Formats: sequence, C-alpha cells, structure tokens
Amino acid sequence: MTASKVYFMDMRASYQNSLMSKLSKVMDAGGISEVISERDLVAIKLHFGEKGNTAFIRPIFLAQVVDKVKAHGGSPFLTDANTLYAGTRGNSVSHLVTAVENGFAYSVVKAPLIIADGLRGAAFEAVDVNLDLVKVAYIGKEIHDADAIIGVAHFKGHEVTGFGGTIKNIGMGCASRKGKMDQHSGLSPKVRGKKCIGCGLCSEHCAHKAISLKDEKAVIDPALCVGCAECILICPQGAIDAQWDSDSPRLQKKMVEYTAAVLNKKKGKALFINFITSVSPACDCYGHSDAPIVRDIGIVLSKDPVAIDQASADLVNGQHALEGSCLTTGKGPGEDKFKAVYPRIDWSVQLDYAQELGLGSRTYDIVSITK
Ligand code: SF4
Ligand code: SF4
Repeated sequence: MTASKVYFMDMRASYQNSLMSKLSKVMDAGGISEVISERDLVAIKLHFGEKGNTAFIRPIFLAQVVDKVKAHGGSPFLTDANTLYAGTRGNSVSHLVTAVENGFAYSVVKAPLIIADGLRGAAFEAVDVNLDLVKVAYIGKEIHDADAIIGVAHFKGHEVTGFGGTIKNIGMGCASRKGKMDQHSGLSPKVRGKKCIGCGLCSEHCAHKAISLKDEKAVIDPALCVGCAECILICPQGAIDAQWDSDSPRLQKKMVEYTAAVLNKKKGKALFINFITSVSPACDCYGHSDAPIVRDIGIVLSKDPVAIDQASADLVNGQHALEGSCLTTGKGPGEDKFKAVYPRIDWSVQLDYAQELGLGSRTYDIVSITK
C-alpha cells in the first residue's frame, strides 16, 4: 500500500509565524489549489459544537479556511447536518442559533452557514452505494450538491467509535437524520435494572420518547429507540449500556460506507483537516467538554481520509496523558488513550474497513510544515 502524505503543523507560533499563517501554508502545501476551481460551491463541513460545549474548533480558524477557498475562486459555505438526539442542533433553526452563539457568525467566519439537510432533517439525496451494510445512503442535500468538500474535524475521543475524526465528520456528519438513524439502527442500549435509581433523566432527555419509567426503573422501547446513544452518557449511574463488542464495529462500518457515499461524487474535490487540539474524551455533541486527555498537538491535513485519522490517532497515542484528565490507565507515550477511555471499543475497525473499501491508506508519511 502506497503511503499517503499527511501535512502537519505543530502549535508553536511566533511574531513572524502565527498559527493562522501556518494553517495557510499547510493548506497550500497540501494541495488546496488542486481541489478548488473557479466558481465551485464549496462545503466546509464542521461541527459547530453543542451549546455548552467548549472543545469545538475556534471560528477564527474556519475564517482562514474560508479565505483560502475564496482565494482560489471558490464560494465557501459552512455546513453540518442536524442531529438525531435532543439538544440544540436537532433542527436548522436551533442549529443555526447555536452556531452563531458559539461564534460562527458571518462577521467572524466570512461565509454563510447552511444546514445540509433542511429544516427538520428531511432534505437528503438518496445515493445508491450497494455496499455490504448500506445499499442506499441518505446524504444531506446541500453537501451532496456542493462541487467540493473540505472536512474540518475536531479530533477527540468518541463513546461509540473510540475516536471521532475525519471519517466520522464525513460519514456520520454529512448524513441526514434518516441516514444517521440508518447508521445507528444496530445500536441497542439496555438498562441494567440493579443500577437504575429511577431518576428519570434518561426519559426526559430521549428525543424519541423511547424511555419510560416502570416500577421506578427505566425501560427502553426498542421499537422507538433509534440508537443515538445519548442516554448512555446522560445516566448518572452508568445504568445504560450497549453491547459494544457487536454494536460498535457494525456502526463504524456503516459510517465508513456512508463516507464512501459522500466522497463518491467528490473525486479529486475533497480535502480533510483535523484539529488535534482540546482533545476531549467525548464528542462535541454533549453540552459540556471534559478536560483534554493530551496536550494540544497540532493540525494535520490530507487528501486521504484514512491516513489523516490514522496519523491523528498515532499522534495522540504518542503523548503522555495530561494530569487531571479522566485517564487513569494508558497514560504513557505509546499507550492507546482511546482504548483507555473506552476499553470495549476497537477504533481500528473504521480505519481497516475504510482501507479495504479503497478510501485511503493506513500507511502515511508526515510532512512537517515549520515555516
Ligand atoms: S438516568 Fe439512569 S438511573 Fe436515571 S432513570 Fe435513567 S437509567 Fe435509571
Ligand atoms: S433510548 Fe437512548 S439510544 Fe434510544 S433513542 Fe432514546 S436516547 Fe437514543
């Protein structure tokens, strides 16, 4: 397998070389000029952060990406698709309000925000992929219709896939509500009766009204549950759990097949950036961010969605864990930080399968951009 190039900048900066100017150089070196053509409508796919979350990428970095796209004649817009769960990004109105409140205003990012899958998540393109688990993928219409895509992902831990990076940002993040339900459909949380104290928090939080209380214990109705996994993190007693050994690999594979569906129409028109900063243990979909598990490492860029996530995982795992984070094991350089947070999740499934599908290579060469 040929090694893919992954361009890397660290977080050192100086008067002559700010992080903004380094990011600009990384985009040039990584070949943004080959991806963007005059008059392209360019989807910059990111996560605007749930209200209360603080780990998402700072809007001023997006402004730098926007500037670069414009410099190459493209018309950029910032985009994400609506979520499955109760929260502040479940429809386009609250999603856009949250984005602006988190700082993604036009005055800052210099590009319009367009939610990819319509007011309530019903605007999708049905893409025939005919893969093992996904026959038809339901992709947010505006992302599907864009001429080019730049994925800008915050690299962090993730409770269902081990980590979330480019593949998650594209495969899950570009899917419409129907597409997200399709990917989560194999995930079936269960309540452990002995641990449940009947507080009802999970029931209040479930957007699909799938949880009720019976004899002061939570009960999940599998017919209503879409497997969004929100209740698992909400429960203060740790009483809700999924069968990760079987559920996570299937979800990761579906997410990879969705990634293939999104990128199918963007051959030669896709570029990916991972911010390995504020590496929180869980997703930006929660209304809080726990302390980072490792120091801010840098920003990576590649045309290969597999290589960039492999390199990002390796860079995180090569670090010492930060004192004061949730990590109690796996703290040394070379130890798997994501496995330490989520012992039953094998995050390599997404990379293996993406490589098998020909989306990219787990083998990479790092090109450091220092000046
Ligand atoms: S949040 Fe947890 S403890 Fe509270 S009712 Fe739900 S399962 Fe039980
Ligand atoms: S029961 Fe849990 S996993 Fe199922 S829809 Fe409700 S919050 Fe999501």
